Amino acid sequence: MNLHEYQGKEILNSFGVRIQRGIVAQNAKEAVEAAKQLTAETGTGWHVIKAQVHAGGRGKGGGVKLAKNLEEVEQIAGQIIGMDLVTPQTSAEGKRVHQVLVAEDVYYPTEGGETSEFYVSVLLNRGTGRNMIMYSTEGGMDIETVAENTPHLIFHEEIDPAVGLLPFQARKIAFNLGLSGNAFKEMTKFVSSLYKAYVASDSSMFEINPVLKTSDDKIMAVDAKVTIDDNALYRHKDYLALRDLREESAIEVEAGELGLNYVDLDGNVGCMVNGAGLAMATMDLIKQAGGEPANFLDVGGTADAARVEAAFRIILKDPAVKAILINIFGGIVRCDRVAQGVVDAYKNMGDAIKVPIIVRLQGTNADIAKELIDNSGLDVLSATEFQEAADKVQAVLA
Ligand code: GDP
Ligand code: MN
Repeated sequence: MNLHEYQGKEILNSFGVRIQRGIVAQNAKEAVEAAKQLTAETGTGWHVIKAQVHAGGRGKGGGVKLAKNLEEVEQIAGQIIGMDLVTPQTSAEGKRVHQVLVAEDVYYPTEGGETSEFYVSVLLNRGTGRNMIMYSTEGGMDIETVAENTPHLIFHEEIDPAVGLLPFQARKIAFNLGLSGNAFKEMTKFVSSLYKAYVASDSSMFEINPVLKTSDDKIMAVDAKVTIDDNALYRHKDYLALRDLREESAIEVEAGELGLNYVDLDGNVGCMVNGAGLAMATMDLIKQAGGEPANFLDVGGTADAARVEAAFRIILKDPAVKAILINIFGGIVRCDRVAQGVVDAYKNMGDAIKVPIIVRLQGTNADIAKELIDNSGLDVLSATEFQEAADKVQAVLA
């Protein structure tokens, strides 16, 4: 589950990580009230208005703007809320902005002081099976670009799960970032609190870009990109309320409610498969035959008529789908039951299905299943072999 910047910052704050303070607002009027309150609390007269959407690169897309007075707060908030924000990380249509974070300006100048931006993230290194802190002096920039152009400016610190982050590691990070004096101390505290927050919240990623050294040597999180591990959400019932369904793919949300394991993809061949492993193999095969899968869909063990119909409806919501490949292994569920399910679902849906369907059923009663499909009189092609199924898909698309 991904969080909004303001939600991630709240978690950070609760673990003692210094953050750029802010108040979330749903409209321009609320934004002005938020700015007034921040001014009363922090003394700042300038504010940044930041679009709250699940996508990075907001600054580049015009979703992060500085307001130097309350009129500008109102005007900028009014302009950002309701816009379709296009960033390097969104589709061309962009993401609709429903709310903004009104934050204190933390890039203020002080006599003789300078600001600098760093990159710090905590994530799981799947290669080593350990948590890792990745950091760089090149903050505020797209980390993928830094990795490509100046990989030597990215550092890694692996954490031993038995002992956690050790004090010398936090000091090493502050040292490698070129800090000294108070900023050095602040950074060691920042890193250890950040790591605590990451572990305690069962996250799989905490990316802070930029981490700011203010002109008066404070270290704080200006941005926060947080992903909580879905499989750990049962331990954090309070985080469930942080989920913003408006930010997620509507089809995926609906499929989730129906108990289907569905991931939307870019291709044109819809897939309906039982078992995640078979689903992966099916997608590989479609690709090998020259096609592109439109989705990953695991209907699970009970592929009865109701589930097959639900899966059909989900797949057909994607207008890019030009053919559907059903690849079911009948082990626990008999193939003839699945075949009957396909036929029933097809008939129930009337003329909603306008694309060719290729069905491959293997396992218990596969021969009866094939007969059922072949004699149904419907526009459904049956296949016995895996390759045959993929070739038939390509044939109907050609
Ligand atoms: P992102 O573009 O989605 O990564 O959003 P960020 O939260 O990282 O903000 C983008 C950029 O806005 C930062 O890299 C900063 O340069 C700038 N920014 C953020 N907060 C402030 C602020 O308080 N004052 C000023 N002047 N700039 C800010
Ligand atoms: Mn950022």
